[in-house]
Amino acid sequence: MTATVAVVGAGMSGLVAARELRRRGIDALVLESADRPGGRMMAETSVLGSRLDLGGQWVGRGHRRFEALAAELGTELFPMRPPVRPDFVEGARRIPTASPAVLTAGAVLLAWEVRARRAAPRAWASRTVDAWLRNVPGRRARRLLEVLVSVTSTADLDRYSMHAFAEAIRYQGGLATMMATSGGAQDKLVVEGAGTLTERLAAEPGARVLIGHRVTRIRRDGGGVTLDTASGTVRAARAIVTVPPPVAAGIVHDPPLPASRTALERNTYMGSVYKAIAVYERPFWRELREHAEFMVLDRPGSAVFDTTPPGGPGHLCVLAAGPEARELDRSDTAARRRALLGPLVPHLGPEVLAPAGWHEKAWHLDEHVGGGYAALASPGTTDGYFPMPSRPVGALHWAGTETAREHAGYIEGAIESGERAAREVAESLSRATAAGAATDPA
Ligand SMILES: Cc1cc2nc3c(=O)[nH]c(=O)nc-3n(C[C@H](O)[C@H](O)[C@H](O)COP(=O)(O)OP(=O)(O)OC[C@H]3O[C@@H](n4cnc5c(N)ncnc54)[C@H](O)[C@@H]3O)c2cc1C
Repeated sequence: MTATVAVVGAGMSGLVAARELRRRGIDALVLESADRPGGRMMAETSVLGSRLDLGGQWVGRGHRRFEALAAELGTELFPMRPPVRPDFVEGARRIPTASPAVLTAGAVLLAWEVRARRAAPRAWASRTVDAWLRNVPGRRARRLLEVLVSVTSTADLDRYSMHAFAEAIRYQGGLATMMATSGGAQDKLVVEGAGTLTERLAAEPGARVLIGHRVTRIRRDGGGVTLDTASGTVRAARAIVTVPPPVAAGIVHDPPLPASRTALERNTYMGSVYKAIAVYERPFWRELREHAEFMVLDRPGSAVFDTTPPGGPGHLCVLAAGPEARELDRSDTAARRRALLGPLVPHLGPEVLAPAGWHEKAWHLDEHVGGGYAALASPGTTDGYFPMPSRPVGALHWAGTETAREHAGYIEGAIESGERAAREVAESLSRATAAGAATDPA
C-alpha cells in the first residue's frame, strides 16, 4: 500500500493532520492500532439515549480550535453549571471552607502557585509530590491535596516531581484555571459527546483510516518511510507519528531514533485514570442542593461533576486517578460502582446508588493509549515537560497533544499539533518538489 503521508494514530491529532493534508490536496492514510478511531476520546450512548464521554470531554476556556471544530462538525456546546468550588467531603462530613484542613491546603496551593509562576527550584526536579506532602501538617489537609493533585494530573505522586507539577501549573496558566469548571479548563461540554468529533472526522468523505493496523516498525531511507503493520507494509514519502511518547516506545525504528527522542520515550509514562458516568432519569440532586460537584476524600478519592446535558437525563461524571484508579481494577463493575457512588449517599441521598446506566473505562488498561490524561515526566528528568519536542527526524514528523505549543495535554492541543504537523509536512514536500527530489512514495 502507498500514501504520500502515513499518519500513525487516529486520535484527534492524527485525524486533524490527515484532514488538513487532504485539504491541501495531499493524500494521507491513517493507521490505527485499536478497533476504533478516537484514541483518548470515546463517546457512548446511554440507555436513555443521551451521549456521554468516557475520554476527553471538556472544552476549556480559550480552546478556540476545539470550539470551531465542534461547530464545523455540527455539534453543540453547553456550559457547565457553577459553582466554581466543589464540596470537599469525607464520609458524611462536608469539610467547611474555614476548616484548618481547607485553609492549610489552600495555603499550600497558593505557595505552589507562587513558586510555579517564577521558575520552580531545580531541587524540586528529584523531589516527589508524595515526599513533599508528608511535610504538610494535618492528615485531612494532606489527603485533600493528595486527591486534588492526583485527579488533576493522573500521576502517581511518588513518580511525579514537584518541578513537573510546578511546570504544569505554570504552563496551564495557574491552578485555578486547571481546576475550575466555569471559566477554566472544564468550561463547556459537547451535547453529542466530544468523541463524536473524532467519529465524524474518521467518517468524512475522502478520509482513509485503517483501524486494527498497529505500526510495529518504521524504516527510514532517502526516499521516504516504510511502515510495518501486522497486515502488511505501507510506503510513504513522509510519516506523522501521533502516538504519545511512552506508547510510541513500542515502535521499532530503523535506523534507530536520535538519543534525545529515545530519552523522551524512556523518561515519560502515561497517567492512570478511571472514568465513569452514572446516568439518571433526571438530575434529581438539583432539587436537593445547589450543585453536585465534589472532591471525595474517602478511598478511592475521586472528583465528581454534574455533566447533565440540557434537558437531561442526569449525568454524574466520576474521575479517580493514580494508584487508587488501579486499585479499582481488582473489583467487578458492581463493586466499583458501590465504591464510587456510596460516598455520595450522605450528600445526594440513596437515589444516587440506582442509576439507569453506568459507563466506565480504566484508561491505564487500554493498551493502545496506555493511560491518560497525557504523558508525564518521570522524577529527575525534564524530557516530558510540555510542549514535548516535535523536531522532525528525516521524513518522520511528530504530533499528538503532548507536542502542542498551546494547551498541550488537552483536545485543543491535539488539534493544534495535528494542524502544525500537516503544515510542516506540506512545506517539506513542496521544498522537496522544488528541489527536484521525488515525493512519490512508490
Ligand atoms: C479520561 C480522560 C479524560 C480527559 N478529559 C479531557 C477533557 O475533559 N478535555 C480535554 O481537552 N482533554 C481531556 N483529556 C485528554 C484528551 O483526551 C487528549 O489530550 C487527546 O484526546 C489526545 O489526542 P491525541 O491525538 O494527541 O492522542 P491519542 O488520542 O492518544 O491518539 C493516539 C492514537 O494512536 C494510536 N496508536 C497507538 N500506538 C499505535 C501504533 N503502534 N500504531 C498505530 N496506532 C497507534 C492509539 O490507539 C490512538 O488512537 C482526557 C483524557 C482522558 C484519558
